[in-house]
Amino acid sequence: MKRLSLASLAILSILALVGWGPVSHVHIAKEATKSLYYTTAQRNAVVWGSVAPDSWLIQQGSGVIHTMLHAQVFYDSLKRLAVTAEEKAFVRGYNSHLVSDPIERAYTSTKPYFGVPGELLVDIMLAKKIPSLSYVKVIPTTATKSLMIRAWQATYSGYAWQPTGAFLDSAARTFNSWISMAGWGSVSGAVRLAYADYYSYIQLSIAAARSAP
Ligand SMILES: [Zn+2]
Repeated sequence: MKRLSLASLAILSILALVGWGPVSHVHIAKEATKSLYYTTAQRNAVVWGSVAPDSWLIQQGSGVIHTMLHAQVFYDSLKRLAVTAEEKAFVRGYNSHLVSDPIERAYTSTKPYFGVPGELLVDIMLAKKIPSLSYVKVIPTTATKSLMIRAWQATYSGYAWQPTGAFLDSAARTFNSWISMAGWGSVSGAVRLAYADYYSYIQLSIAAARSAP
């Protein structure tokens, strides 16, 4: 069994207590949209959209920009500016993230602390249970990156920082390294036990994402 690398432990610690892990977000978005007649490009856009709100978090940690990427006002800009089917699918994935993060917060607030944040270990658990998830790739396209950048400019015009294509590509690489690794990680029995109700909260998240506007 491959041990978690230092890089993945760093990801674990910066993602602590701020929402589902990347594998769970991808799973929630895929399940919420699986009955839709989507092309491959749209499905890729859903996957990328489902983790995109954590693009700052996965590289820099929590903070103001992380909050700005999760703000309703930013989401409203994304939705307003999305025109093509691919862009709309990206927004759908993005929304699945925003509606499921609060469910994760309510859930893990009841859980004991394991040293390494438990909710990221259960993210690994999900990848182990559904191995195909560890082969999922986050693929930002020129169109979806441009949508993120334009929505940021429309929402936070004049702010000192803005996302760039390179920033978003780098986030995608980090998501992909986490997701591919997650399928091989091990989860201790104690974590497994404490998070035994994990799937019911994942189902709640899927239901919320499915009925999200
Ligand atoms: Zn988030």
